[in-house]
Amino acid sequence: MPFGSLDPLCRLDRNTTSRTVPAASMVTNIMLERFLIFFMIDQFDIILKFCPRHFTGGQYYLMTDSNIGWKGRLSLGWTQSIKRAFVTNGGVRPPTNKLAAQMEIAPGPDPEIVIIPLEQHVGAPCVPMVETNDRVLVGQKIGDSREYISAPIHSSVSGEVTGIIKYPHPSGRDILSIQIVSDGLSQPAPNLEPVNHPTDLEPQEIRSRIREGGIVGLGGAVFPTHVKLAPPSDKPVETVVVNGAECEPYLTGDHRLMLERGADIIMGARIIKKAVGAQRIVVAVEDMDDNAIGAMREAGGTDEVEVVVLPRRYPQGSERTLLKTILGREVPSGGLPSDVGAVVDNVGTCAAIRDLFYTGMPLVDRVVTVSGDGVARHANLRVKLGTTVHEVIDFCGGLVGEPGKVILGGPMMGAAQYTTAVPVTKATTGILVLRGETIFRRESPSFTCIRCGRCVKHCPMDLVPYLMGSYSDCGMWEELERFNIEDCVECGCCAYICPTKNPLVQLIKVGKEGYARKKKKMETLQQNREEQQVASREEVMHDGGKPRQ
Ligand code: SF4
Ligand code: SF4
Repeated sequence: MPFGSLDPLCRLDRNTTSRTVPAASMVTNIMLERFLIFFMIDQFDIILKFCPRHFTGGQYYLMTDSNIGWKGRLSLGWTQSIKRAFVTNGGVRPPTNKLAAQMEIAPGPDPEIVIIPLEQHVGAPCVPMVETNDRVLVGQKIGDSREYISAPIHSSVSGEVTGIIKYPHPSGRDILSIQIVSDGLSQPAPNLEPVNHPTDLEPQEIRSRIREGGIVGLGGAVFPTHVKLAPPSDKPVETVVVNGAECEPYLTGDHRLMLERGADIIMGARIIKKAVGAQRIVVAVEDMDDNAIGAMREAGGTDEVEVVVLPRRYPQGSERTLLKTILGREVPSGGLPSDVGAVVDNVGTCAAIRDLFYTGMPLVDRVVTVSGDGVARHANLRVKLGTTVHEVIDFCGGLVGEPGKVILGGPMMGAAQYTTAVPVTKATTGILVLRGETIFRRESPSFTCIRCGRCVKHCPMDLVPYLMGSYSDCGMWEELERFNIEDCVECGCCAYICPTKNPLVQLIKVGKEGYARKKKKMETLQQNREEQQVASREEVMHDGGKPRQ
């Protein structure tokens, strides 16, 4: 059925990517191909209701759990997302505040000194491979680990190592870091070898190069990519999902990458596809990101690459939510995306993989969004790893007014900092400076729950945040196992939606640590007990070399 003939009130032009809905009150139904969308438009607010049981196809449906305040615009993205999106639970819709969306990615400051922490990834920390007074070059490996789950660290400047010291880290701890004074020459290391046809390499060779290049998940999770690209042999990967759903408010680095480097992202995804032996590439973009949708469609070019448009919702970019929305399959508790035949990589990671193979340069910088009402200039900068946060803020014109909070990452999942002397690491997606009057300050430290159930309703992982928060507040770690606390993705939806402003995600993080300590203690006790039992059995069996009578 042709689109244009369906609804005279909401004329939908096939040749445009969006349309304007008349600002009049109406209630109407539209049948789009096999899908029925029932929506009401009341002046400028649209309330969307998708009626699953009325679809003639009956395969896909999408439901909103609450009214959406939406300013009179309906794009074709909705139609396509409806075609492919599956129902997922929970989530919230915070204001997007994408203040730096129009700012092209530009080079960041040229630091005189960099502080490069030896812990910038999930897994074992690196040990230093250089000593004080050593000369280093850009891309030279300066830290590595023998452990499988780890990733090497490289110098982002050429210059001299002036110290290997413990230094404030974005995690709040002091971490062993390598301090390098730059000579300003940016001289590259001599052993960097580009590869002209990376997709011709064997999967093992690709993984090995990715490991040596220090590539980790640049969406903020910083999980070593070579580990991700080596799924168990009994779990074949069919789909490479390129995650362009930048659902955190304020962050725009991925958006700019998709606009400016779509072809490079797709190239990186093709290398990943070869490494895991997948059949297809799916690029996931949120429906509000019209320009990025177009750019990625253009960059994808072939049938091998499919761009899927997802409804805007936080945390749409979380791996589990993304897979459930795109594939309709749920990653089991404690499982990995390979359990549902997929591997997920952020657009920044894909671009970094492409750069590694085509230039030979390991991961020595990353795109960082600088935003918030407390900084003079909003920007998307390519910042050398190890540059201090205050240097980046100064580069953007410095602070405006009294800063209330400096957050590394977005406001939902980012970490508030007690100093701006911390360095930019592989995990730094953004530097967000909020003024004192903008931020909410909790007056009472007590946990005051009115049992409204909103946190449960909005939890994307179907957990019970108020009970986890409550047990964590009381230090009852053993109780937390019953509530699958390890499945919490720390998205912050529960804390965001709570009417009494309970710091639920903070309590859950504390609970996770407490539970992990308790679990480790119990495992050690159990192990000791088993060893004692084995030892006493052997003593009984071999008393003096002879079995006891
Ligand atoms: S932080 Fe954890 S418990 Fe809270 S909504 Fe997110 S996943 Fe659920
Ligand atoms: S949202 Fe807040 S007040 Fe409501 S049940 Fe959860 S913790 Fe309690």
